[in-house]
Amino acid sequence: MSPNRAPQTIAAANGIATDSAFGAVAPPIYLSSSYTFEGFGRARAYDYSRAGNPTRDVLADTIAQLEGGAGAVVVSSGMAAIDLVLSLLETGDLIVAPHDCYAGTQRLLQARQAKRQVEVVFVDQSDGPALAAALARSPALVLIESPSNPLMRVVDIQAIAAAARSAGARTVVDNTFLSPAGQQPIKLGADLVVHSTTKYLNGHSDVVGGVVVAADQADVAALASWANVTGVTSSPFDAYLTLRGIRTLFARVERQQRTAGLIAEFLHGHPAVPKVWYPGLPTHPGHGIAKAQQSGFGAMLSFELTGGVEGVSRFVHALELFVLAESLGGVESLVAHPATMTHASMSPEARHAAGISDSLLRLSVGLESEADLLADLARGLEAISITALS
Ligand SMILES: *Cc1c(COP(=O)(O)O)cnc(C)c1O
Repeated sequence: MSPNRAPQTIAAANGIATDSAFGAVAPPIYLSSSYTFEGFGRARAYDYSRAGNPTRDVLADTIAQLEGGAGAVVVSSGMAAIDLVLSLLETGDLIVAPHDCYAGTQRLLQARQAKRQVEVVFVDQSDGPALAAALARSPALVLIESPSNPLMRVVDIQAIAAAARSAGARTVVDNTFLSPAGQQPIKLGADLVVHSTTKYLNGHSDVVGGVVVAADQADVAALASWANVTGVTSSPFDAYLTLRGIRTLFARVERQQRTAGLIAEFLHGHPAVPKVWYPGLPTHPGHGIAKAQQSGFGAMLSFELTGGVEGVSRFVHALELFVLAESLGGVESLVAHPATMTHASMSPEARHAAGISDSLLRLSVGLESEADLLADLARGLEAISITALS
């Protein structure tokens, strides 16, 4: 595809009408595990689907173009994507990770550290001196998550990637919360981008998948080789569904983040909501950086309620549209209580240190009518004030 096409066009049209067998408009799904040789000693482009698969390759090429990378490797989950990045390291290499990183990532890094495969230091990357001290230890890899989960902390990707480069480290950005429709870390200096494609890229809550995008072709080759060695490549069917999801990525994200902005404003002014975390609010500490490095503010937000755990319970119970579930980025709106759900594996002290109170709720805003979603939240808030009066 010509290199100057807009990302919206890449998402909608990459791989369309390229089928040479029957002229299929949608790229066909190739489920076959193996491929015939053309003749003795004459291999074709594909031989075995763990190593390479045409359906998976269209998806990889599409995501690589959307992120502005040299190539991508599509794997079976977001965790597999992050673990695949670790295959670029040597034993004992140091990783600098955010203190508030995704809980599964924290578990993975700590488990690999316990096996003495890597060293890990968790730092608040918005704390300049703390980050500088970690970089002075000559890390091999710096992991960034921005915006972070669940408080939507935003860090300056360009500045951290430049500092990491000076320290001799690669930078990898987990871009799951925004998708390439909201942020392109390679353009900001990152070497690698990972996604849980389970979230916005697939967008329909029916696939668990992941991808690693690399800016450098040599990294793409090394990652593809390791993915084949360890067998973490995704199934063709999951790749097919994820590509189908990406067709509407920009339309979904545009609409979802517009509704999220309206919800953030609504909650921000409500007496039962002491705090709202959404990068689109001018009061958000990361608003300025988000405005500079993102192309949208995303459709994730979190907020605190009055009334303690009882208030949270009343609120969630009164909701009819927001479904109480983990995960994010789908067409349906979800509400999660980090303290008892996504962040339950953290100790209460660690949660407190990360700023995650028992009154905090996180929303993933979907594609339902904004009026219906606002009415649903109003219903929840109403249920709290009834409690307060009784
Ligand atoms: C969900 C998620 C992951 C893990 O992805 P899976 O597909 O569940 O393995 C990693 N990072 C972030 C930010 C996530 O939201």
